[in-house]
Amino acid sequence: MTPQHTPYERFRANLATAMDLLDLAPAERKSLEEPKNIHRKAIDVAMDDGTKRTFDAFRVQYNDARGPYKGGIRFHPLADEDEVKALAALMAIKTAVAGIPMGGAKGGVQCNPKELSRKELEAVSRAYIRAFADHVGEDIDVPAPDVNTTPQVMAWMRDEYEKAKRTYAPAMITGKPMAYGGSVGRDTATARGGFFILDEYVRSQGLKPEKLRVAIQGFGNAGATMAAFLHEAGYTVAAVSDSKGGIFRERGIDPKRVAEIKAQTGSVAGETDGGRAVTNEELLELPCDILIPAALDNVINGGNAGNIRARTVLELANGPTTPEADAVLEGKGVTVIPDVLANAGGVTVSYFEWCQGRSGEQWTADEVDTKLRRTMLESFRAVREEAAKRKISHRMAAFVVGVGRIVETMKARGWM
Ligand code: GLU
Repeated sequence: MTPQHTPYERFRANLATAMDLLDLAPAERKSLEEPKNIHRKAIDVAMDDGTKRTFDAFRVQYNDARGPYKGGIRFHPLADEDEVKALAALMAIKTAVAGIPMGGAKGGVQCNPKELSRKELEAVSRAYIRAFADHVGEDIDVPAPDVNTTPQVMAWMRDEYEKAKRTYAPAMITGKPMAYGGSVGRDTATARGGFFILDEYVRSQGLKPEKLRVAIQGFGNAGATMAAFLHEAGYTVAAVSDSKGGIFRERGIDPKRVAEIKAQTGSVAGETDGGRAVTNEELLELPCDILIPAALDNVINGGNAGNIRARTVLELANGPTTPEADAVLEGKGVTVIPDVLANAGGVTVSYFEWCQGRSGEQWTADEVDTKLRRTMLESFRAVREEAAKRKISHRMAAFVVGVGRIVETMKARGWM
């Protein structure tokens, strides 16, 4: 396979294979090859030192056949139009695989939030939503958190939107704080959903959690919470890392202790406690049974896929494995549980939050957890059946299920 260089090209490669398997006609293929809308704005922000800075901001709306566009907003120095396009498209596949009545979108601001003060971060958040206020809304496009965006950022955005539109709009954005329209369970949802799938897979293979060593790349919301769930369930979390470095301790680490160290020093790599320091890249190649990329895209690629020693890869990040790497891993018999399935817990509880925002109801923690588990296991079952039936990878099976469902609705609506 020739290397796929940009994130959107990598998405297109997977989409093309899925469309071949689904036997789509040329006109049908065309309506899925590009997003429906690409919005791009330069947003001006007043900095603390009195200067003004301009940031590139994006909202890409890929497909809304199944319901309002849905997807997070990331603040990252590398967020650009191509990456946001790819992430928007993955969201549409993800919501379809999860079986929730929403489409797919993504937003991004090219900035480094680690260099912004709290006041500047608030100004960026408010400027973003003002810029795209006419393109979002509870029935149109519903944003959420993603890399480097938090419940607080969602609260600023909802407040700004309600002021700009002179309205009350609890369902225009999800991932909000509990004090301002959030849902119980949303903060842990991405990891919780991934945990349900991994645990189901491990048991179906006749494996024992106590005997499994896990390496997790990324200690943000998804990675840190996943480490805690796995530790609690008896898995050995042997390695964790963040952008500044990581640690490997064969006998296992205590995620709580690591979270404390990160809070004090800014990185998980502060204390090895008898283990050893590793880089963020080395972590991927450690002798572990399960590898969980939970940070950024493109980290498992043609350059290192051959060195991966884990037998199972669970993708909590979006787009961590390139198509080239997929081919290498498949050849080695490694099972990859893909992003559009494994990390769908976040958007699933976002959908629950949206339902609550629209109806004025407040669900209990038990209700959310039970419904999330059911949704995750049901999507996993659909993907595994498709994979077995067609003898294809879980990623390809998830694409076939997701694209198949989108196409079905587009046909029903007369869009194809
Ligand atoms: N950013 C998350 C994702 O990539 C959540 C999206 C959402 O909740 O809408 O799935």
